[in-house]
Amino acid sequence: MKVKGSKIALLYTGGTIGMIKSEKTGALRAFNFDLLLQKIPELKLLEHEIETFTFDTPIDSSNIDILDYTRIAAQIEAIYDDYDAFVLLHGSDTMSYTASVLSFMFENLTKPIILTGSQLPIGDLRTDAKENLITSIQLAGLKKDGKSVIREVGLYFEYKLYRGNRTTKLNTDHFQAFSSINYPYLAESAVHLKVNFSALKKINYSQDLIVHKQLDPNILVLKMYPALQQTTFEHMFATPNLKAVVLETFGSGNSKTDEWYLKTLEQAIESGIHVINVTQCKGGSVEMGKYETSQALLEMGVINGKDITTESALGKLMYLLPKNLQKEVLKTVFETSLRGEMSSN
Ligand code: ASP
Repeated sequence: MKVKGSKIALLYTGGTIGMIKSEKTGALRAFNFDLLLQKIPELKLLEHEIETFTFDTPIDSSNIDILDYTRIAAQIEAIYDDYDAFVLLHGSDTMSYTASVLSFMFENLTKPIILTGSQLPIGDLRTDAKENLITSIQLAGLKKDGKSVIREVGLYFEYKLYRGNRTTKLNTDHFQAFSSINYPYLAESAVHLKVNFSALKKINYSQDLIVHKQLDPNILVLKMYPALQQTTFEHMFATPNLKAVVLETFGSGNSKTDEWYLKTLEQAIESGIHVINVTQCKGGSVEMGKYETSQALLEMGVINGKDITTESALGKLMYLLPKNLQKEVLKTVFETSLRGEMSSN
């Protein structure tokens, strides 16, 4: 396997990795990306050709919006043929959301798009930024028989490359900030770079890249909690233009059996709102019908999110809604793995 000679586009959207402390307030804010490169002279030692791109105004990823997703996708699409791989520097707070939605926006990807960032700014003595950035570039640049080894949207953090749409940010304090409980990591950085080949996405090279840039954000994420009240629930479902609800249920997909609760859900589904059952547990899968507390959901046509993450369910819905699929078709498509985001059973 060669770690040599790839042409890599490094895109900076913002995030801690390129932030400095404001002298006035002490708060972290994004700074000029050129300085980021000055801080990592090691980048020059890599055998890859690296070109950098900065978003006009680098942002904290908490401020990211669907227009930014479209902007990122359009920028990568515009230079897709000119580079072998894309490394996207991004704030860690919403990195899993961006990785997820990008995985749906890029259909038939044959090159890597790897998102990375850091918990500590690049200028900090104990920073995790250098390792994250350098190894992301090395993994992005890996080739076998002239083709990229990674051919999907990945997320690299603290020695592990994950499938992006399987990740969740779990920890604000540890350098290992992300987890992918329902899917094994794609590669590990130890003394050697170890690729988990059996976990990589299989690719059909005969199909052209399609970049889906139309997204619909009219989605509500609703986390179940025992004290949820009727008025609150009904109010949320009355949100204007609501097209889909990601219902974060308990355990293996369970929720209340109160009449007002089931009636609101049933009416919503009848009116054309898509309701997805996603477990609020970090590992494992929804199994509708296993308990009485999910049987009614199954019968009224709630969509089975299986072991998808909430971040990925949102990305998948934003991508699917503009396709104006019929209710049953959207259900079937949602319950099918499109980009390796859910297990097939
Ligand atoms: N607030 C920052 C962001 O998500 C945190 C980070 O970069 O890790 O942009």
